[in-house]
Amino acid sequence: MKKLTLPATLTVKELADRLSVSGPQLIKYLMGNGVMANLNQALDFDTMALAADNFGFEAESEDAAPAAAPAEGRRVRHPLLDLSKEDPASLVARPPVVTVLGHVDHGKTSLLDAIRQTKVASGEAGGITQRIGAYQIEKNGRLITFIDTPGHAAFTAMRARGADVTDIAVLVVAADDGVMPQTEEAIQHARTAGVPILVALNKIDRDNANPERVLQQLSERELVPEEYGGSTPVVRTSARTGQGIDDLLDLILLISDIEEPKANPNKPAVGTVIDANLERGRGPMATALVQNGTLRIGDNVVAGSVFGKVRALIDDTGKRVKEAGPSLPVLVTGLTDVVVAGEIFQVMETERAARNLAEQRGFQAEKQKAQPVRRITLADLANQVAEGGIKTLNLVVKAEANGSLEALRGQILKIEDPTVRIKIVSATVGEVGESDVNLAAVSDSIVIGFNVRPDVAARAAAEAQGVDVRYYDVIYQVTDDIQKAIKGLYEPTFVEVLQGRAEVRKVFTVDGRAAIAGSYVTEGRITRNAIVRVLRDGKEVAKGRMAQLRRFRDDVREVAQGYECGITLEDFSEFQEGDILEAYVVEQQNL
Ligand code: GDP
Repeated sequence: MKKLTLPATLTVKELADRLSVSGPQLIKYLMGNGVMANLNQALDFDTMALAADNFGFEAESEDAAPAAAPAEGRRVRHPLLDLSKEDPASLVARPPVVTVLGHVDHGKTSLLDAIRQTKVASGEAGGITQRIGAYQIEKNGRLITFIDTPGHAAFTAMRARGADVTDIAVLVVAADDGVMPQTEEAIQHARTAGVPILVALNKIDRDNANPERVLQQLSERELVPEEYGGSTPVVRTSARTGQGIDDLLDLILLISDIEEPKANPNKPAVGTVIDANLERGRGPMATALVQNGTLRIGDNVVAGSVFGKVRALIDDTGKRVKEAGPSLPVLVTGLTDVVVAGEIFQVMETERAARNLAEQRGFQAEKQKAQPVRRITLADLANQVAEGGIKTLNLVVKAEANGSLEALRGQILKIEDPTVRIKIVSATVGEVGESDVNLAAVSDSIVIGFNVRPDVAARAAAEAQGVDVRYYDVIYQVTDDIQKAIKGLYEPTFVEVLQGRAEVRKVFTVDGRAAIAGSYVTEGRITRNAIVRVLRDGKEVAKGRMAQLRRFRDDVREVAQGYECGITLEDFSEFQEGDILEAYVVEQQNL
């Protein structure tokens, strides 16, 4: 029997999705067993297990499956930031560095402001603060550093460069809105980074706040709140009234006590540039977060292909300081150019050494620009395995529905191999989006799309970052390809190459059926011998050979971008206005 891991509770609709049955089918079964439920009713685990059994699944409780625990992440440290080689005796405690993540408008900026207020209110340094991309506050006589640029772009940009500043992620979820797509994304990012997640259940002051619902949504995403017996701390906060902010800070300190972030202050500084800009009259400025060692005025620094001698150090209260130790963000002047945020900086012994390293990197960067980065592809994997190279295959999986996602995930995880471990970095429902591609780039994953298509931004991102995105519509082909790649047997296959796209603007009926798609070619070209996919709301609703391609009353062989045409398919006559048609030709894939 197929195994299905289930959380403590799900609604009827959600369970139906996971069981790949329709809602009414499941309701009918439940009614037959004396459970009167509508689609949105929550079911307990035992009821779900019985229903699952009826539909051919063996239900497993999520709590009993530690493999699915959030601690899946791994910390990839940049060699310069790897403290494992430091003498433990030289390490001292440093303030934790906290990043705030979450869906847009859930209150990240407001929370960061409210937290910042707690310090300003205490009247320190005349209460004048300066936005430098990060700030430190004091709580119970201890310091906490917050990264003041919320959002995932900054987080992924840093991680893409190997930077790793965050010790703790605060996931902001608005109590009235609940878990949204970017919340899911944030969870994945934090997991990939391997940092502990603390949830701020924000906007708790709102009348329509529904914390219970959010707690349940979190449970479903393997972030089981402590009050539900799980291990995820959740604090109810309001950036507006200030409720819960103190508790949030206390919890951060508590987690920090467990994580025990440390550094060696008695060394030349190494850290990450978290913000940078060019200020008139002051030249290039960069906010540096020192992660190990101490940064001082007069130090020779290099960050990426930029170098300089530290002229001034300014903290987040606008005060000039002579030095900055671990976890202290400071504005640095004296650099020769603007640094890219996310770049790692280090202090070099001499100006000459700093300059040489910067120039050497600049030269390499130019060279790399000429040849786009190549990340892992299934074909590479086969080659590398043959050479005894790769050990872990990371996958970002997307599918059109929960049911198929679970099924696919189950099948992938069943693949066993003594040499290669398969890790699913993320598995979510929906189209392949830009953030999926970014996540894949950061975690060196291959993206598997099942019955879904990429959006335009995702395609561009995949191309730019060299991420292998593969689409399938049959599960065994996914597992087959992976298995072949693992065994080093992957061979060139025939792939569909996109020719062009058209939008259905008007539908014409033939014998009462919506058989002719009056379309406008928006991209590329459409040829008579193409295979056409019909997409509706990003999902594939049909795929088939073209029967006719017409312009006005003439059959034509090809229609180019910017022109209108009539398209009919061999086995499909249910077009709708707004459908997107993608024309493909089949070609042999080059290895
Ligand atoms: P961000 O996009 O996550 O940074 O969200 P913002 O901090 O910009 O907040 C979005 C909106 O929600 C703003 O209008 C805020 O005033 C409001 N907001 C943020 N936090 C709270 C809260 O705790 N309670 C209430 N009532 N409104 C909030």
